[in-house]
Amino acid sequence: MRVLVITERQGDAVSRMSWEALAAGRQFAQIIGAGLFAVAVGNDALSQVAEISKKKLDGIYAVTHEFLASYTADGYARALRQVVERLCPRIVVFPHTYRTRDFAPKLAASFGQSLISDVIGIGVDNAQPVCIRPIFQGKLHAEVLLDANAPQFVSVQSGIFRSDTQEATETPANVEAVEISLDPADIRVSTQEPLRETKGEAGLAHARVIVAVGRGIKDPKHIALAKELAEALGGEVGASRPVCDNGWLTPDRQIGSSGQTVSPKLYVALGISGAIQHIVGMRGSETIIAVNKDPDAPIFDIATYGVVGDLFEVVPALLKALKQSATT
Ligand code: FAD
Repeated sequence: MRVLVITERQGDAVSRMSWEALAAGRQFAQIIGAGLFAVAVGNDALSQVAEISKKKLDGIYAVTHEFLASYTADGYARALRQVVERLCPRIVVFPHTYRTRDFAPKLAASFGQSLISDVIGIGVDNAQPVCIRPIFQGKLHAEVLLDANAPQFVSVQSGIFRSDTQEATETPANVEAVEISLDPADIRVSTQEPLRETKGEAGLAHARVIVAVGRGIKDPKHIALAKELAEALGGEVGASRPVCDNGWLTPDRQIGSSGQTVSPKLYVALGISGAIQHIVGMRGSETIIAVNKDPDAPIFDIATYGVVGDLFEVVPALLKALKQSATT
């Protein structure tokens, strides 16, 4: 029995999210007593496996085709369909990436299955794995039992499973090439150069203090308040996704699963509810102060200090106190 983990590269290295997916894959493999196998995909997949083969795995599959030189949903879904048909895994695990969100549901649907996405925990019920995933913006957690109806398709939320848990081995894992066939007519889309990261990212990634604003800031004109607090604390301004989606701050300020992962000494969350997609990007912060009107906001579950109150009252009071302490 096999658990297959589909890996991706970021530049020349295996992506952090792929290591996280391997960590989740290991948990699944232990529960069902299966072997853990990594899959590398590309136009020269064999050249990509050196890094993974240093880890203790039951094997690696390299899926090479010229049409996989750049990512397309058509190419990946068709190629991996052939891999899954050939290897008959019980569970296929994907990292949490844009690619996965793009092609994995299509792949799962082609087997008459659903993709169990954004998994944040793995439990056991009657010796079968149970996937825990947030629903309704993180307000509830659903438990999805993986029954024996193979193959099952799962993607794991970023930042949840530790990326550094793969044990090294002296004996490299066995690498096997998997032959697939793709027809030019299969690939209906062409790809463009990937977008480059913007300059501002370095600022947030290295900031010791971040004042992050959420939808509770209500209007772009109020962002000046957060900027004033960030300045007073010697930090940078970050944001939840809706703030960036609205164009109130630039996308490089977004923190979370589809933005940046930050771990400053101090993170001040103003009017941010604490959806899982935001939390995974900032929960490594040393101290978290949350200001929110709603005492039940999930952000308070991870906050070191929580202020239940109106940010438009709390922030001016904080600024006043900071000014006073600077003059005494
Ligand atoms: P809301 O959830 O609307 O929360 C606003 C909060 O402000 C509320 O808790 C409210 O009580 C509080 N509030 C209102 N007025 C005040 C006031 N005057 N004073 C104090 N508090 C007040 N989100 C991200 O942040 N980053 C991501 O990278 C990200 N990626 C995503 C990827 C995917 C695929 C999906 C589906 C979603 C993603 N999201 C991301 C969106 C995420 O699910 C949430 O919708 C988002 O984080 C909510 O942002 P928010 O907390 O600012 O807004």
